[in-house]
Amino acid sequence: MEFETVIGLEVHVELRTRTKIFCSCAVEFGAASNSRVCPVCLGSPGVLPVLNEEALKLGIRAALALSCEVRRSSKFDRKNYFYPDSPKAYQISQYDEPIGERGCVVIAGTSAPRSIGITRIHLEEDAGKLTHSPFGDASLVDLNRVGIPLIEIVSEPDLRTPDEARQYLEEIKSILQYCGVSDCRMEEGSLRCDANISLRPVGQATLGTKTELKNMNSFRNVVRGLEYEQERQRAVLMAGGAIVQQTLRFDEATGTTIVMRSKEDAHDYRYFPDPDLPRIELTQAYLDARRAEIPELPAQMRARFEQAYGLPTYDALVLTSTQRLARFFDVAASQAVDPKAVSNWLMGDVLGYLKEMGEDIDAQPMRPEQLAGLLRLIDDGTISTKIAKTVLRDMMTSGQDASAIIEQQGLVQISDEAALREIAERVIAANPKSVEDWRAGKEKALGSLVGQMMKETKGKANPQLVNRLIVDMLRD
Ligand SMILES: [Zn+2]
Repeated sequence: MEFETVIGLEVHVELRTRTKIFCSCAVEFGAASNSRVCPVCLGSPGVLPVLNEEALKLGIRAALALSCEVRRSSKFDRKNYFYPDSPKAYQISQYDEPIGERGCVVIAGTSAPRSIGITRIHLEEDAGKLTHSPFGDASLVDLNRVGIPLIEIVSEPDLRTPDEARQYLEEIKSILQYCGVSDCRMEEGSLRCDANISLRPVGQATLGTKTELKNMNSFRNVVRGLEYEQERQRAVLMAGGAIVQQTLRFDEATGTTIVMRSKEDAHDYRYFPDPDLPRIELTQAYLDARRAEIPELPAQMRARFEQAYGLPTYDALVLTSTQRLARFFDVAASQAVDPKAVSNWLMGDVLGYLKEMGEDIDAQPMRPEQLAGLLRLIDDGTISTKIAKTVLRDMMTSGQDASAIIEQQGLVQISDEAALREIAERVIAANPKSVEDWRAGKEKALGSLVGQMMKETKGKANPQLVNRLIVDMLRD
């Protein structure tokens, strides 16, 4: 029997505000434990929460960027539960009136682009962080995270493969980063993902019994966890068994899933409107202002790069992976003769060197105008591509213009035919074996002679000219 996989994702994203959602405690990753707390986020009796407008703005911006309809009128609710990571014993969230609904994100898909529905986006506060002590029977709690503003993005069960789930997450991350809504650092917990997965016979309309996967702390682990769970469920169903609705934890070390709890312990959160917070009422002008804050998004940028610069889809995808890289390319390409050459240099040598340095494009001193300048010097024959690679590295550490580096280090390409002919004569005289081989039809021998020429000139000889000269001289 053939099965179809159905996946839905719940993504929690921390909003990039300076302070928490209902108090003025600072939002800082890595601060000393329990040092960014106050009576409001600790839930002391008698305190009142006040909504941080920046969190509301970012939440609305995210909802609009993800093509959601934004509610003009919404409210906050209390989600009641008792757990050590929540000192108030309830979380302020949004229940039946989320800020955004009915959005979508387009992903590349397995064979063709697919639109993945977003059911809802709601605002809420984060809970504290528990660390289970490796030294004994104890857990430690850090409440700095309590009250950090979050949005939860719930997708429709539209994803069909673990890889589509990864594409969806990449796209959400990219859109939110472009919008300045969140830094989306999964390793710091500012983007977290839970997944629902079920299988059903191909052609069946109703959904199969699902399991929920938690604790996947990287995109790679999301794919691993879902692949494992997909195969596990398939095996159970093929053997005639039934899937039990459970919450599972992905164990990174073993690559398997472990049962956390089953449906019987499903929580009743007794939601009710938070009486401490007024309703959120938005005017059209307020929404328009949020829409105006949304920059060109990755999908639009990819389409423009393909059309305006004639880039292949793959290049456009790589270059828009971060907004900083996309902007760098955009400026460099607009000043270069051949945008595809800019793309090649960026995707190859520049990204390679950045990876070596462990840095971001904005953390190195070379500006896009300078990269365009370097490419012009290759085009007009001042330097060879080989020399340009060394010059590029220098530019990325010193921030100097290519022309300045070339002049200082005497790297100008030798295109003086008379000078090159003189060197070629010496090389030919010193390598009779190669000459003989070439005349005997061994094409490779030419490469050896050209290589000798480049060595003699410390890589500065114009390679096309050298090739032509040597062939001419050997034929004489
Ligand atoms: Zn506080």
